[in-house]
Amino acid sequence: MIPYFKNKYLQTLLQCFLFGILVLANLQCVLRPSGDLREFESYFPHENPNSLIQKGKVRVTFLGTTSILLDDGETQVLTDGFFTRPSLWKTAFSKIESDPIILASVLEKAKINRLKGIFVCHSHYDHAMDSPFVAKLTNAKLFGSNSTINVGLGAGLDMANMEEFQIGKPIKLGKFVITVLESKHTPPFRILGKTNATDPNFPNITSPLIQPVKAFAYIEGGTFDFYIQHGKNKIVIKSSTNFVMGAYDKFKADVLFLGIAQLSLQPKQFQEEFFDETIQKLNPKFIIPIHWDNFFKPLNKPLEPNLKLGDDFDANMNALLKRSAKDQIQVQLMQGFETIDLF
Ligand SMILES: [Zn+2]
Repeated sequence: MIPYFKNKYLQTLLQCFLFGILVLANLQCVLRPSGDLREFESYFPHENPNSLIQKGKVRVTFLGTTSILLDDGETQVLTDGFFTRPSLWKTAFSKIESDPIILASVLEKAKINRLKGIFVCHSHYDHAMDSPFVAKLTNAKLFGSNSTINVGLGAGLDMANMEEFQIGKPIKLGKFVITVLESKHTPPFRILGKTNATDPNFPNITSPLIQPVKAFAYIEGGTFDFYIQHGKNKIVIKSSTNFVMGAYDKFKADVLFLGIAQLSLQPKQFQEEFFDETIQKLNPKFIIPIHWDNFFKPLNKPLEPNLKLGDDFDANMNALLKRSAKDQIQVQLMQGFETIDLF
């Protein structure tokens, strides 16, 4: 209830002030992490092996969002490589660009020094923006959709260092064999009237994308999963919270990296089908949730759950834990730069 003022000017001023407080209070609420990692502490292995990688083993380092480094001691393979992580403010209100100092420091800290391939799951900025610059710094080849190739061209990478995805065709890098599978992006959402849905008239990045550029210029350009074989072991990396019905009918995996962003915001039936088409079909020994961290925060600080603004980490994890317990599958969370031996 707003007190009545005879002076109209004072009345308007007070209304504006109260409205401002309301907006701020709301913002403070939605800009909080959507979960408490302490409640899931027992799911973090905190192993961080420092020893040399034994022959036949594959070590993984989690680098936030869906950036995953696989290393067998001879060859390294990376997904996405999104390390700049511009702030929410910057992403919303200005053009963004890759930060070479951050990229160099991540490459050093994660010991990325024998990288042979970077596989980009789709071309939104939180997956694709840094990938060509990581390719340049490491001499690794960039693999992606035609949209990602345009992100690479805009960064000055030439075609000799890039390869467009060919669905279902295995790519051999050292002892890793990577097969790209067609997938689907997490269902679109709306924040403050804006949607991240792809405009059907402009589904791809069709010309070289030159930084600095607004975040929305990074168009999805199709979404892809990665089926990775290493000797007798198999890994699936699924970055987005969606599925193509039947896509995993002929696949099994020992380890599943599973995108859980916004999972609990979807209808119950979607959640069930998502689990049926991923966990049930692949029947992994363990699942590592990905795309759960707030990528507006830098990677050199401990990762926090996605913001309340567009996600619910606690509910996503609880849904996953409930289903994985039913199927007797272990779940492991990884902090930024945390490392475990998969096999
Ligand atoms: Zn996306």
